[in-house]
Amino acid sequence: MDTIIAKVNKENLDEPESKEALYKAAEIIRTGGLVAFPTETVYGLGGNALDKEASKKIYAAKGRPSDNPLIVHICSLDQLYEIASEVTPEMKTLAEKFWPGPMTMIVNSNGKVPHETTGGLDTVAVRFPVHPVAMALIRESGCMIAAPSANTSGRPSPTKASHVEEDLSGKIDMILDGGEVNIGLESTIVDMTVDEPTILRPGFITIEDIKETLGSCKMDPGLSSENANVRPKAPGMRYRHYAPKAQLSIVEGEREKVITKIVALATESEQNGVKTAVLCSDESRADYKILEYLGVQIFDMGSFETEDDIARNLFDVLRKCDDLQVGRIFSESFDTKRLGNAIMNRLLKAAGHSVVEA
Ligand code: AMP
Ligand code: MG
Repeated sequence: MDTIIAKVNKENLDEPESKEALYKAAEIIRTGGLVAFPTETVYGLGGNALDKEASKKIYAAKGRPSDNPLIVHICSLDQLYEIASEVTPEMKTLAEKFWPGPMTMIVNSNGKVPHETTGGLDTVAVRFPVHPVAMALIRESGCMIAAPSANTSGRPSPTKASHVEEDLSGKIDMILDGGEVNIGLESTIVDMTVDEPTILRPGFITIEDIKETLGSCKMDPGLSSENANVRPKAPGMRYRHYAPKAQLSIVEGEREKVITKIVALATESEQNGVKTAVLCSDESRADYKILEYLGVQIFDMGSFETEDDIARNLFDVLRKCDDLQVGRIFSESFDTKRLGNAIMNRLLKAAGHSVVEA
């Protein structure tokens, strides 16, 4: 299959080129095809959420296990009422506060969304994205759009159209290239089908944000690496994910000790003939200068002060390590103020929970 790749200017969707691309993309969705499109979190791989065959195509293109449900993307609150068996006052409050935006709610399904989309569950994940291209595509197609991240299953999520192209070119009908995404981490998933709202996947909207809005919220105990015997509730959080080909370890501890440890480990690794990379913050970039002379790749992820950059760069840097055929990665810990939870959730999974104490 030839994959059409078309640029869309998210600042001005009325430009003829953008208009034409969106028109074509909407038609593909309506007729059962697949389109990758930018959202504010990561690129999604979309198909008509109510069309079983379209959902099956999504699983096939990604190589995704069929029990890992898709998120249904909507462009109005009315569409939540169309597919949920009940919309509680708490759901309404959360929707009014965070939609459109990077938050997904798990609600009980009224059966309208097929099991092929929900991975066989009687609950459904719903999100109203805020990215202009995503909103326009949902509106123009007239469909609710089922969309997981537009990567091959197991690889880091795509934050640029070129990432989607690497993974899915030839397997899907179209890629809308709307430039780099804003956030770079997948949406926060909040389970609203249980007594106490529960975060199944941390993201840009934090547990504190939800607590402030609803009064209470907890983390899914299955997310903590201390509960190795408790399975995460979101099926997708159980799989190895975000993983670069290289073995990745996170080095934790006091700043000075971390730097000394990483320098020692990376030096040893590179001298053993293994291509090595280090992920660090702006704040400690200069301390790794010595490693550059040995040929170690240093990736400055961004500053702790503007933690958004660290979030946005994470998946791109993991992909770059693959492109450079890096065999070993050592990373600082990025336990930043607001997004630390979400960033470390992805990084720990990418590392298979390999943590070295400095
Ligand atoms: P992705 O869009 O690729 O980030 O994947 C969607 C995520 O949402 C995966 O982790 C799924 O397991 C999760 N998810 C989707 N629907 C449900 C549901 N009904 N219950 C729990 N988790 C869900
Ligand atoms: Mg995904």
